[in-house]
Amino acid sequence: MTITVAIIGSGPAGFYTASALLATVADPDNPDLEIDVLDRLPTPFGLIRAGVAPDHQTTKKVAKKFEQTALRDEVRYFGNIEIGRDISLDDLRAMYDAVVIATGAPLDRQANLPGRDKLGVYGAAAFVGWYNGHPDWVGLAPDLETERVAVIGNGNVALDIARVLVKNPSELGRTDIAAPAKAIIAKAPVNKVTVFGRRGPLQAKFTNVELREMADLEDAQVITKAEQLPDALPVADDRDARLARRNLDTLKTFAAKAQEPNPKRVCFEFYAQPLEILGGDRVEGLRLERTELRDGRAVGTGDFFDYPCGAVISAIGYKSETLSGAPYDQRHGTIDNDNGRVAEGLYVVGWAKRGPSGVISSNKPDGEQCAAQIRTDIQAGTKLGRLALQNQLAGMGRDRVSYRDWTKIDQAEIDNAEHPAPRQKFVTVQDMLQVLSDVEDRWAIQDKKDA
Ligand code: NAP
Repeated sequence: MTITVAIIGSGPAGFYTASALLATVADPDNPDLEIDVLDRLPTPFGLIRAGVAPDHQTTKKVAKKFEQTALRDEVRYFGNIEIGRDISLDDLRAMYDAVVIATGAPLDRQANLPGRDKLGVYGAAAFVGWYNGHPDWVGLAPDLETERVAVIGNGNVALDIARVLVKNPSELGRTDIAAPAKAIIAKAPVNKVTVFGRRGPLQAKFTNVELREMADLEDAQVITKAEQLPDALPVADDRDARLARRNLDTLKTFAAKAQEPNPKRVCFEFYAQPLEILGGDRVEGLRLERTELRDGRAVGTGDFFDYPCGAVISAIGYKSETLSGAPYDQRHGTIDNDNGRVAEGLYVVGWAKRGPSGVISSNKPDGEQCAAQIRTDIQAGTKLGRLALQNQLAGMGRDRVSYRDWTKIDQAEIDNAEHPAPRQKFVTVQDMLQVLSDVEDRWAIQDKKDA
C-alpha cells in the first residue's frame, strides 16, 4: 500500500526531501508514495522567501525547481496549516506513515548582553524577517532614525543586513524587499554600519562571494583597519583555509580602495567582543572589549571601547523552535535526533536537524538521507495520510492554501510590483488570503459572463 508522508515546512529542506522521495519511486506510472508538504504560511519556500536577501534574486531561482516537485501528481501543498495550532504533531503521526520535520531555525540565538531590552536592539531573525516581508515581523518597524548602526557577528547574515542597510532607493527598487522596510530604510539617515567580529578576519564565517559583493554598493565604501589584516596567511589547503585566504585578499582590496568618496561606510571591526548595550530606554551605543586569539578562541585583553550608535542588530546565529510532541535539544537549539531519525516514523531534516549552517543546497543531502531512511524503515504504508488530514481539516472548517492558490498570490505580487522590482510582497496572511477571494470573485463574474 502507498506510503504516506507528511513534511512539515516547505523550505529548501522540505522540498529537497520531497524531491529525494520522488526519486525513489520505481514505477512513476504507479507511484507507491503520497507526499503532503505543510506550511503555516500561505506562501511556500521558507528561507528562500523570508531568509535569502531581497537583492539575491538569483539564489531565489531554486524555487522553480521546488515548483516542479510541488506540481508532481504525488505531491500536495497544504499552506496556511500550522502544526500545533490547527493539528497536533501526534495527530499527524497517527495519520501518516512518516512525518518529516523541516521547520528550519527561525529564532534568534540571544547575545546575553546587558541592555539587550533597550529600544533599537534587534535580532537578525526579526530584522531579516521584517525586510523580507515575513508576516511574523511585519510589526517590527525598527527605528532607524540614526546615522550609526552596529551589526554583531561575522557570518553571511551580518553581511546581508549591513548591505541592505546602506543600499540607496534605486538599489532597493531592484529587489523584492517588503514595501514597509523599503520605505523606512530608504529614508533612514544611516551612513555608517560597523560589522563587529569577536575573532579575526581569518576566522570570519562569511563566504567570499558575499564579501566581495560589498564592493558593488553604489553609495557605500568599505573600511577595514590595516593593522587587523594579518600578513601571514594560513598554509593549510583545506576548505576553511582557502576561504580565509580569499577573504583576507578581499579585505585587503577594500583597504586599498578606501579613498573613494562615498557618502556611506560599512566598517569591519575585528577582535571586538560586545559587552554591553549602552543608553537609557533607547540604544546609545555598544561597549566592546578588544580580544586576542588563544587556541582559536577570542579572549578579552582588558582594553575597552565604546561605539556610539542608535541601533544594534545581533546576527550571531539562529535556533529552531520547539514542537510539541518532538524532543528538543536545548544545547544545540535543534530537534533532538539520531542522524535524522527522531522516533518511529518521525524524521527531521535541514537546520532543525543540524543547526543553522551551510547554503541552500546543503539541505539536499539531508533530504536524500531522510528519503533513504523512510524507504529502509517503512516497507509498505498502513496509514490513510492525505484523506485523513483533509477530513480533519474539513471537520474544522479550515481551508488549506493549495499550490494553485499560491500561484495566484505569486502572480498578484508580480503584477503589483513597480518596475524593476521583481515582486511586491504581501506582508500579512490576511492580504495573501484576500487575493484568493478577489481572484475567486473575478472568476465568478467571468463564469457568469461566459454562461
Ligand atoms: P554564522 O555563519 O554561524 O555566523 C555567526 C557569527 O556570529 C560568527 O561570526 C560567530 O563568531 C558570531 N557569534 C556567535 N556568537 C557570538 C557572540 N556571543 N558574540 C559575538 N559574536 C558571536 O551564522 P549566520 O550568519 O546566521 O548564517 C547562518 C547560515 O546561513 C550560515 O551557514 C550562512 O553561510 C548561511 N547564509 C548564507 C547566505 C548566502 O550564501 N548568501 C546568506 C545568509 C546566510 P564565532 O565564529 O567567533 O563563533
